[in-house]
Amino acid sequence: MKIYNSLTRKKEELTPHTAGKLSMYTCGPTVYHYAHIGNLRTYIMEDVLEKYLRYTGLDVTRVMNITDVGHLTSDGDTGDDKMLKGAKREHKTVMEIAEFYTNAFFDDCRKLNIKKPDITEPATQCIDEFIRVISALEEKGYAYRAGGNVYFDTSKLKQYYVFGDLSEEDLEVGVREGVEEDTNKKNKADFALWFTRSKFDDQELKWDSPWGCGYPGWHIECSCIAMKNLGEYLDLHCGGIDNQFPHHTNEIAQSEAYLGHKWCGYWFHVHHLNTDNGKMSKSKGEFLTVSLLEQKGYDPLAYRFFCLLSHYRKALTFSYENLDNAAVAYKKLISRIAALIKTCGGESNEAAVNAASKAAELKKGFEQAMDSDLNTSLAITAVYDIIKADAPAAAKIAAIADIDKVLSLELISKAQAAAEADENDKNGAEDIPGEIAQLAEKRAQARKAKDFAEADRLRDMITQKGYIIEETREGTKIRKKN
Ligand code: AMP
Ligand code: ZN
Repeated sequence: MKIYNSLTRKKEELTPHTAGKLSMYTCGPTVYHYAHIGNLRTYIMEDVLEKYLRYTGLDVTRVMNITDVGHLTSDGDTGDDKMLKGAKREHKTVMEIAEFYTNAFFDDCRKLNIKKPDITEPATQCIDEFIRVISALEEKGYAYRAGGNVYFDTSKLKQYYVFGDLSEEDLEVGVREGVEEDTNKKNKADFALWFTRSKFDDQELKWDSPWGCGYPGWHIECSCIAMKNLGEYLDLHCGGIDNQFPHHTNEIAQSEAYLGHKWCGYWFHVHHLNTDNGKMSKSKGEFLTVSLLEQKGYDPLAYRFFCLLSHYRKALTFSYENLDNAAVAYKKLISRIAALIKTCGGESNEAAVNAASKAAELKKGFEQAMDSDLNTSLAITAVYDIIKADAPAAAKIAAIADIDKVLSLELISKAQAAAEADENDKNGAEDIPGEIAQLAEKRAQARKAKDFAEADRLRDMITQKGYIIEETREGTKIRKKN
């Protein structure tokens, strides 16, 4: 598989350090609020990447941190502590906030069919590890103490700005108006590894350390959690494009200073979900969540489909109109697969026997698309091509079922349900006598008028005449008693 490596700014063949195995690290959520659908775009695309790597036969181990301490509102060392902000907003403790929003994050992931990484670790569970690595950095001369805090000295590196065109001016981006710059730093690009003299008097979470009671900076947690669980050579590191600087730049600086060699081979960055006002972000106040989409009647998987229709390296603009279009296309795709399922029954045994080998052939278009820098949009076109192909329906279904292990759109199960619902509707329309249909209609009106006694009486009449009336997710169904 070829993937765009942000570090080299080239599409490169993804070759793991140990043949057949791939270690993958993902920057996890900061659990001070609900994830917005922009955050979740990043996790959806990372999920598809992970699943495709498994599909190609690699033995993937994926690790993700949960940021429950250390992340300030600016990604540098300025601004408020995000977790404290969340705790104050809801009059709860930081750990209560962390637990609530960690669960909310995984609930959203479940709704979007985002697989939970093999290992997830909250930063607050790894404090000893942070202290160990920061102490080693200090011993090696890469860290210094100033104003009670510990900083990474970026002037000790041959090259600090490793991601392309970034320079010192970019640091200004992280500094908002009215926010004091940290005057303890020797160089503008230096960053905090450990805070003891916190500017937050009411900091709830603090730990003893060689530098006094305090808490870790945000960047050190990802380096440590990755190295602890995946060893000193990491194959693939993922995150949203905004993480490239300063977060990932700092991760590389401290990990390589600590290890004394190159740390991670490939960097995968997902571009932003934007609204009309630019990047979707929590600091702007209004943001969209999966629950909100559900309340508006959207299937969360329609949002997943919407994301897959675009390449991960392009900014994606969210609007309800765009989401509606994707939702319609998703439904149509499912009904076309449902039609395939229906034709499957009428095929010869021979077609069914040959399905597996034919399916492998049919999947080639999908594999080519995914091998070419995770082109999920073309991969979906490849699914349409399979539907149209001159091949037995059983082979097409086998191919789509395999592909859906990566896309995770529930294409087969939803198509099966749609095919069954169609079949029921058809049977229902044929078998139900006019008299029963009329009674059912009267019952529906009684229910609408909240006359439940009358509705029950009509239901009993229908039952006495040998029919059963049922409320289902698709509406009221009538069938003949067996
Ligand atoms: P956070 O919870 O703020 O640490 O962010 C979690 C992940 O979402 C990170 O990988 C961010 O880079 C990513 N992210 C933040 N905003 C967006 C956005 N508007 N679109 C896509 N990804 C985003
Ligand atoms: Zn990270």
